[in-house]
Amino acid sequence: MLCKVCKKKIKPFLSFGKMPMANGFLSKKEFNKEFFYKLEVGFCKSDFLFQVNDHPKSPHIFNNHYPFYTNKSKYMTAHFKKYFDWTKKYLRKDSKIIEIGSNDGTFLKNFKGANYVHLGIEPSKNVANYSKKINKINVKNEFFSFKNSKKLNNFKNKTDLICAANVISHIPNLNDMIKGLSILLSKKGVFVFEEPYLGSMFKKVSYDQIYDAHIFIFSLHSVNSIFKKFGFELINALPQTTHGGSMRYVICRKGERKISKNLKRLLKIELKQKLNRLSSCINFKKACYKSRNNFRKKILNLKRDDKKIVGYAASAKSSTVLNFCKINNKQIDFIADSTKEKIGKFTPGTHIPVVSIKHFRESKPDYTILCSWNHRREIFKKEKLYLKKGGKWISHVKV
Ligand code: SAH
Repeated sequence: MLCKVCKKKIKPFLSFGKMPMANGFLSKKEFNKEFFYKLEVGFCKSDFLFQVNDHPKSPHIFNNHYPFYTNKSKYMTAHFKKYFDWTKKYLRKDSKIIEIGSNDGTFLKNFKGANYVHLGIEPSKNVANYSKKINKINVKNEFFSFKNSKKLNNFKNKTDLICAANVISHIPNLNDMIKGLSILLSKKGVFVFEEPYLGSMFKKVSYDQIYDAHIFIFSLHSVNSIFKKFGFELINALPQTTHGGSMRYVICRKGERKISKNLKRLLKIELKQKLNRLSSCINFKKACYKSRNNFRKKILNLKRDDKKIVGYAASAKSSTVLNFCKINNKQIDFIADSTKEKIGKFTPGTHIPVVSIKHFRESKPDYTILCSWNHRREIFKKEKLYLKKGGKWISHVKV
């Protein structure tokens, strides 16, 4: 495989085996034409970049029915309000703002509410339409790319803030994306993005961060290395608790702003944790195999004891766990979810029926897999009664 940034040859160090598309929820009649690929991971020693090998082309993933709405999570909605408040230090009253991957408009609606000139770039039609209709934000229903950026005349060299969350790792051609940023950002403009953090994933062995759409798991070292090539510079980073441990990266044109002491401190921590070394990836690989054996054993033992096991929240993430651990509709009765695009369908690869949350509440399972363990606090709060009545939550990561 080749590094998606520097194009140097790298050797995959970990394989999760045959995988379906993580958001490929399907109907029964589609079972026999389901698409699978080999999910392999490599690490580029030049760019310190943890990345997935040859993934299927994104237009298949982001389409008219993207089954994810940010506003389903109250916690994330509150997070985006705080994220918005924090960005104000980079803004003037007349600043222009672009969000990449604006989804249902949960983040941008804060900027719209404060009367900023804003634009969301969102390729998935259903969520883009929702954001226009419900949140009344300005959106372009297209991918963020160099070519598309060139068309945004009102924003060229004038955008003080380009922000993003949980989307940059979805963009296979980072070089092209950064060229797009470069023509849009103002002289002192900042690019701020958040993504699940490599350090957190290694620590928690949360390998479910890895799937077809999550092509990169970033660290400060990798972000630093990639953006340097294009005349940009990482000036700060802020750890976040979202999505099981994320990092917010702040980037601007080289020399335009001061590099924070905090960044230097975090970079040192990364060196101690060897996040810039293949050896830490190899340790992670061993931990993934161990985690799989333990989780599979746990599920099979519960099943042997005749326990009713279900799942909660049919997340894209859980696709990697269920398929890698070979846990399917033989062990799991159903997965409950609130997204209308998923209910009535089956989970990719493992063909577990997706049902409503109401169904979950009525069926009183003994054990429930937290398929979105990263949203556990919100889920525990919503489903207090389940625990009260003796139900048990289980997860492949320690929560
Ligand atoms: N930012 C939101 C949504 C994350 S899901 C949040 O954190 O909750 C990722 C979103 O990015 C999806 O809505 C998807 O359609 C969009 N996306 C994927 N590739 C993109 C690209 N190249 N340019 C812009 N948006 C993209």
